[in-house]
Amino acid sequence: MATKYLLSEDRLPTSWYNVVADIVGAGLPGPPPPLHPGTLQPLGPADLAPLFPMALIMQEVSAEPSIEIPEEVREIYKLWRPTPLMRARRWEKALGTPAKIYYKYEGVSPAGSHKPNTSVPQAYYNKMEGITKLTTETGAGQWGSSLAMATCMFGMELLIYMVKVSYYQKPYRRSMMHIWGGEVIPSPSDTTEAGRAILAADPDTTGSLGIAISEAVEVAAKNDDTHYSLGSVLNHVLLHQTVIGQEALAQIEASGDYPDIVIGCAGGGSNFAGLAFPFIGQNLKAGKKTRIIAVEPAACPTLTKGVYAYDFGDTAKLTPLVKMHTLGHDFIPAGIHAGGLRYHGMSPLVSHAKELNLIEAEAYMQNDCFKAAITFAQSEGIIPAPESSHALASVVNAAEQCKQSGDAKTIVFNLSGHGHFDMAAYDNYLSGNLEDYAYPEEKIKASMANLPKF
Ligand SMILES: *Cc1c(COP(=O)(O)O)cnc(C)c1O
Repeated sequence: MATKYLLSEDRLPTSWYNVVADIVGAGLPGPPPPLHPGTLQPLGPADLAPLFPMALIMQEVSAEPSIEIPEEVREIYKLWRPTPLMRARRWEKALGTPAKIYYKYEGVSPAGSHKPNTSVPQAYYNKMEGITKLTTETGAGQWGSSLAMATCMFGMELLIYMVKVSYYQKPYRRSMMHIWGGEVIPSPSDTTEAGRAILAADPDTTGSLGIAISEAVEVAAKNDDTHYSLGSVLNHVLLHQTVIGQEALAQIEASGDYPDIVIGCAGGGSNFAGLAFPFIGQNLKAGKKTRIIAVEPAACPTLTKGVYAYDFGDTAKLTPLVKMHTLGHDFIPAGIHAGGLRYHGMSPLVSHAKELNLIEAEAYMQNDCFKAAITFAQSEGIIPAPESSHALASVVNAAEQCKQSGDAKTIVFNLSGHGHFDMAAYDNYLSGNLEDYAYPEEKIKASMANLPKF
């Protein structure tokens, strides 16, 4: 039997948690600033004003320990929050491990992942500052659909550049975006200068998140009534996601346990940080010793093999330079990789935490991830998103170590979403058609030559 730990609606966190305050409070250095791509000087709030509302820009640079969640945002969070923390007893048994495994389940949101935790406040703050239209990019469609739900709730327009290969392979997420009123364009497109330049060079390109970001940013920069919205990577996005970890902390304490290990999958780093940062806070100020593990695909090994350097967030080099673990802004993910998490960079805050040894990182091959996801689905019922399956592969590894040592560790992991729109990937796994692929060192080296020079 699975045990479910619920919080009442009134236990919904009233503020977001800012890990920067605890990092600095512990005497550690704060994160390096983003730089202006032209002047190479630290970015000022005015530099970001064409793209983001001032409230989000101030959150981006905030050193406050916490930031209050607006009442209007809390009201919408209540549609699916607090999310359950579940004890995976049947999976523990199937794995034959003495470990206690808990998962925080973010797939109960209307869009099916953790992403509405930030799409709702982002739409809200833009609306408050008189913006009527947002642009964004989406890969598999998780972020596009989450933001479409939010702009729909606030009566705003949304233009979504969807990576071309996903546009054709994932028609159902496209339908969700349409239901919530979003306009979806396959990227690269001929609607932007960035898109036209890429198409001229390579008409058959399958697209990438880096290219789609360039298109969305370009449209927002050129239109006064339009802002841009990003679903991961940035500090304010990670901040909004900390409702996950704050709830999990209260829930696991209510269960009478405390995690020895906290695990999350990491693409841009937002669901991982959302769960992990409040636990890092406990390590920094309450003497806890929880191991915190970020898990990524071997096909996009940003934290485990990337270089920690200033790089662009997009392919056309329109974004500020941020210091992060990167595979290079010209990274194109392998077509054979089905497991999500394909961004070339990593959140600067997660990268900084890695540099400070506050977190560890692991990478897994996609077949190991799907294998773990299937044993989970067969024992707990829930079919995990391919992204989330990376966290599961790491949990299986930790549970196996507990089995060998006889050590009954407590593990908490983030089940960031369900996989109901990813059946093609599961079918490929089940029919033995998924190839394992590790991103080659030579490609990383080649891309490093294109990093911005100082
Ligand atoms: C988008 C997504 C991710 C990856 O994004 P992060 O910012 O790294 O969290 C992970 N899981 C699911 C279900 C997603 O939709």
